[in-house]
Formats: sequence, structure tokens, C-alpha cells
Amino acid sequence: MLPERAEIVVIGGGIVGVTIAHELARRGEDVVVLEKRFIGSGSTFRCGTGIRQQFNDEANVKVMKRSVELWKKYSEEYNFSFEQTGYLFLLYDDKEVEEFKRNIKIQNKFGVPTRLITPEEAKEIVPLLDISEVIAASWNPTDGKADPFASTTAFALKAKEYGAKLLEYTEVKGFIIEDGEIKGIKTNRGVIKTGIVVNATNAWAKLINAMAGIKVHIPIEPYKHQAVITQPIKRGTIRPMIISFKYGHAYLTQTSHGGIIGGVGYEIGPTYDLTPTYEFLREVSYYFTKIIPALKDLLILRTWAGYYAKTPDSNPAIGKINELSDYYIAAGFSGHGFMMAPAVAEMVADLITKGKTDLPVDWYDPYRFERGELRSTALQMG
Ligand SMILES: Cc1cc2nc3c(=O)[nH]c(=O)nc-3n(C[C@H](O)[C@H](O)[C@H](O)COP(=O)(O)OP(=O)(O)OC[C@H]3O[C@@H](n4cnc5c(N)ncnc54)[C@H](O)[C@@H]3O)c2cc1C
Repeated sequence: MLPERAEIVVIGGGIVGVTIAHELARRGEDVVVLEKRFIGSGSTFRCGTGIRQQFNDEANVKVMKRSVELWKKYSEEYNFSFEQTGYLFLLYDDKEVEEFKRNIKIQNKFGVPTRLITPEEAKEIVPLLDISEVIAASWNPTDGKADPFASTTAFALKAKEYGAKLLEYTEVKGFIIEDGEIKGIKTNRGVIKTGIVVNATNAWAKLINAMAGIKVHIPIEPYKHQAVITQPIKRGTIRPMIISFKYGHAYLTQTSHGGIIGGVGYEIGPTYDLTPTYEFLREVSYYFTKIIPALKDLLILRTWAGYYAKTPDSNPAIGKINELSDYYIAAGFSGHGFMMAPAVAEMVADLITKGKTDLPVDWYDPYRFERGELRSTALQMG
């Protein structure tokens, strides 16, 4: 049964919607999540597991530092897998090294302990690496990876324990608005009365904005990104997330189940199509085996696709939309929304319950596109 009313309605039951509901419920708020399919069924369960603080601007570094603290706290409290096995960026020329030296400076300034290391040190961390062309690497041992299924489910169960209602197969179809105020939401299962809405639908965010009659221009488009998983191998063979911009913008690591997971930069879109392609299979095989030649002997079990919900500067839109009270957006994560979710939840819950937050939410101002104030492009992977 659809509840008759809720103080706050979160639209979208991915990691972002679920962690927002978790944070609000933990603070004693009356919150309902509306999810058109099942929890995690959007991009979240299709993601690559990676959680990093190695960004190239102050806001993302600070937000991700907080996010990692929360990943650590909640994985211990709720007993799901989050491993701080590091992120290793392989660098192949002076230009790349200079760029990463700049990034490391920003990261160190805000307490993220990234270091530039030698190819030999990188090989100590991942003995199977081919370092013949690598000249340095950017290494932060406190980055990591978490299981999207286990973590999202753990947050969802706890949110329910705190009193949140998570309604699956409940699709938002429209809004009831009177004099610029939200009165309720129309769904395929009837109407729910509410005054506060959070749009956490990522790749579908523009459709929800249109339903709400939002006029401000928030460009978020769905792009198809693909991923691969191999047969499982001995645990601990590849501990960190390995990144190589030279070889196809590839990222790869080993999951807690033992398979090698990852993807490349190959992007198709804007599109809502999710069929995996043969071209991706060829590219990913070529690039991965350049980075770690021993992967040639592994069987690929499966490829699949999901959305990167992209904005022009690869930063999400997070904040309150003033033309409609009370409407918030947290969407457009451009391929790094899984890692950001716990800190985003804190920011959005702060905005709703206190009207402000200590985290640098202004960086993600949804009005920046309309004002023509794009941010420096966030480091996007894959
Ligand atoms: C191949 C791949 C690899 C990735 N790797 C990483 C990674 O390593 N690290 C990382 O941080 N991120 C990664 N990402 C990105 C990450 O998956 C997303 O940024 C993140 O999952 C976004 O979460 P979300 O909750 O905002 O969106 P979603 O998980 O997409 O959730 C949105 C939800 O809204 C629901 N919805 C839509 N319309 C409606 C409606 N009308 N009514 C009700 N519900 C609706 C959808 O069903 C969906 O469940 C990757 C993505 C892909 C595709």
C-alpha cells in the first residue's frame, strides 16, 4: 500500500536515493523512497565498485574524503565489504606526471595521502603489472572499493529499521503543484501527499524535472558505458583499482568474489539503450592485456552496460531548486556517483534539515549551467 502522505519523498532507489533516505531516517525524518523497478536496478548494481579521493579540485577531494570516512564507518557498523586497497594511476609521459603532481598537491593539502611512486614500487603493489612503458604512478592507499549490491542493500535495510519506507515497482508519473508548492506526487499506484521532494534518478533526472515543470536548464544526459567480469582468480592478485588513461581510459580491479571487473572509456550516446557491444569486448580485451599481460589467460564471463548520467563538466547537480518549494536534486554523477553517495546523502540531509551544510555543496550548484559557470572538469574514469 502506498502511504497517504510523507514528509519527504525521495524519487529513485539507487545508492544515492537509498543513502539519502538512510541519512534522513537516521535523523528521525519521515521519508519514503519511490523506485520504479527494484532497489539498485539503475546504474548502481551495474557499477565498477571504485571509491577514490584522487580528484583534481578542492571540492571533490573534500567531499570524497568525507565519503571515505562514511564508507569506513558504515561498512564496519553494517558489516558489508569495503576494502581500502588503494587506487593506482599508471603514468606514461611527462605531461601526465605534471598533471598528477598538481592533483597530488591539492589532495595532500586536504589530507588525502597520495604519493607519486616509481614503476618498481607500483610493481610491488601489483606484481603482474607490465611496467615497461610506465614512468611513474599516483598512489593513494586509502582509496578502495565496495560491493554495490551488499552496500546498497545494507543501507536500504538500515533505512527501513530507522523507519523509512522503500517502495519498489512504484513509478513517479507526475506532480501535483499549487501556486509553486508541491502538494503531492502521482504514481502508477496512486497519489502520495508530500511537500518535500528529492530527485535522485540520475540518468532519468531530466524526465522528473520536466514532470515537475522545472524551467532552469540542468543538462544531464544518459551515456552507455560497459563493463566486463572475468572468471574468479586467487583472491588478492589485484588489490587496488588500476587506471591507465594511455590504454583506453581503462580501470580494472579484482572484486571480493575474485573476478576481474572493469571497463574502458568507450562511450555511446546520449542513449537509453543498454545492449553491450562487440567493439567494447575487443577494446577492453586489448587494453586490459596491455596493462596486465597475464589476463590473456583468463576467461571473460560476462559484459553488461549501464548509464553514466553526464553533465558538461562531469560534476553532479546537487541542491535546492528555488522555483518550486521544496524541490531538491542530486543527479548527474557522470560515472562517479557510487563513491560519492554517503557524502551526498549528508549534504542533502543537511540542506533539508538545517538549510546549510559544512561540505562544499556550492561546487555542485544546479544553476551553474544556466549561469555559464562550468566547473573544472571532474576527473572522470572509464
Ligand atoms: C559500467 C559502469 C561503471 C561504473 N563504475 C563506477 C565506479 O567504479 N565508481 C563509482 O562511484 N561510480 C561508478 N559508476 C557510476 C555509478 O554507477 C552511478 O553514478 C551511481 O550508481 C548513481 O546512483 P544513483 O542512485 O544516482 O542512480 P541509479 O542507481 O541509476 O538510480 C536511479 C533510480 O531511479 C529510478 N527511477 C528512474 N525514473 C523513475 C521514476 N519515474 N519513478 C521512480 N523511480 C525512477 C531508477 O529505476 C533507478 O533505480 C559506474 C557506472 C557504470 C555504468
